[in-house]
Amino acid sequence: MKESLGTTGLILNEPLLWEKGKKGRCGYSLPRRDVEPHPLDQELTGEGPDFPDLSEVDVVRHYTRLSQWNFGVDTGMYPLGSCTMKYSPKTNERQASLLGFTGAHPLLPARLCQGALKMMFELEQYLTEITGMDATTLQPAAGAHGELCGMLLIHAFHKKKRSQRSKIIVPDTAHGTNPASAALCGYRPVPVRSNEQGILSAEAVAEVMDEDTAGIMVTNPNTLGLFEENIRKIAEIVHSRGGLVYCDGANVNAVMGIVQMGKIGIDVMQLNLHKTFSTPHGGGGPGSGPVCVKNELEPFLPVPRVVEENGKYILSDNYPESVGKVAAFHGSFGVMIKAYSYIRSMGPKNLKKASQLAVLNANYIKERLKGTLHLAYDRPCMHECVFSDKHQLAHKVATLDMAKRLMDYGFHPPTVYFPLVVQGAIMVEPAETESKEDIDQFIEAFKAIVKEAKEDPDLLHDAPKSCKVKRLDEVAAARKPCLAG
Ligand SMILES: *Cc1c(COP(=O)(O)O)cnc(C)c1O
Repeated sequence: MKESLGTTGLILNEPLLWEKGKKGRCGYSLPRRDVEPHPLDQELTGEGPDFPDLSEVDVVRHYTRLSQWNFGVDTGMYPLGSCTMKYSPKTNERQASLLGFTGAHPLLPARLCQGALKMMFELEQYLTEITGMDATTLQPAAGAHGELCGMLLIHAFHKKKRSQRSKIIVPDTAHGTNPASAALCGYRPVPVRSNEQGILSAEAVAEVMDEDTAGIMVTNPNTLGLFEENIRKIAEIVHSRGGLVYCDGANVNAVMGIVQMGKIGIDVMQLNLHKTFSTPHGGGGPGSGPVCVKNELEPFLPVPRVVEENGKYILSDNYPESVGKVAAFHGSFGVMIKAYSYIRSMGPKNLKKASQLAVLNANYIKERLKGTLHLAYDRPCMHECVFSDKHQLAHKVATLDMAKRLMDYGFHPPTVYFPLVVQGAIMVEPAETESKEDIDQFIEAFKAIVKEAKEDPDLLHDAPKSCKVKRLDEVAAARKPCLAG
């Protein structure tokens, strides 16, 4: 194997803190006490929790070593399809940590947090403009939460019209959260198949759309990385039978400043600020899933809403048709600041360019790897492309083996076995922040792995070889997790 990124070097073993601790060791020094100790509460005088005794350097080294076992966007390319693991500029973290923001209590009266309210008000406007919709709420805390909020809005819309509907159409190329969100709102998801081009046909939608269907949820671009080209026609069909069109906009990184969703028939959509708008994710930190709507759904948006009145910003609950609150306080405030800072620092021209580069990078990978790996749909893609292990199965090498082997070459594996419509899927999303050199290295790594698959399949069955943690028994890891180390 050619020497490559991240596969050589010193990675230190590290025991549990409990194994490192030594009775009496201490990580702080305080001035000598000049009063008698006096427990606040007699109850508290018993034994404390079983924390090990450690010095400061013990603790710092422990966590620094553990962090070096990890891989993130700041380490290298992380082409996890459908997740937009792009590099988030550090300046946006800096703005989010300004004392005026971090010190603001969510219950401050409006007159004492005009800056925070103004930031939220303007961010709503920017997102409304970027999507080409009419109004936005920032409350939902993640993509799937935004989907649920969107479903609640659709439900409120039909309720007001006294039209009880029980179903939502969800294509097989939708994100897995879509049917779950529809079901959580009490709707029955009705599946519809994509056509041989990997997109929805208007005919397939016309066949299932009826007066008992509240609407359709379309992931656009879809999970094959393809743009739903028939969306306008599909929206017409759904609207003509009284339904609404929901767009899962988690993949808006591909179309910022290019597609005006409000003009192609979308009534409501969510964005994932933690994908497109500069919040690092994947480690379980807070996300944000704003929902953008057309005018007909605006009265139902969650409260409180930030409103401008005579140059002042206030929080208003005065929306009698609102679906109510969907998050504690105002949502993920820190994530909003990063998105605001990102949008302001990029400007409209560069947001559009980011999308163009994301699409260019994905198409470059698609074209350069399509002779090496089986390409599921050979047509121009958006932000991601989907390959499969079809050509490698003859050597008994599967998608999982190749994904594991990529780690030896210093890359995070792509999304595998998703979307379900492609058997053995390998879904690659490079994002716009990768340079051509890094992408070329990724392509060369995949070519080398495919060669290994032919010549030495057992090598791949054992991969990864050089990582700190080798091939895991994934079933046991999920079913019988060993959380003690
Ligand atoms: C990531 C993603 C979601 C889910 O977003 P969360 O923030 O993880 O809830 C939904 N739809 C699509 C298309 C996505 O890529």
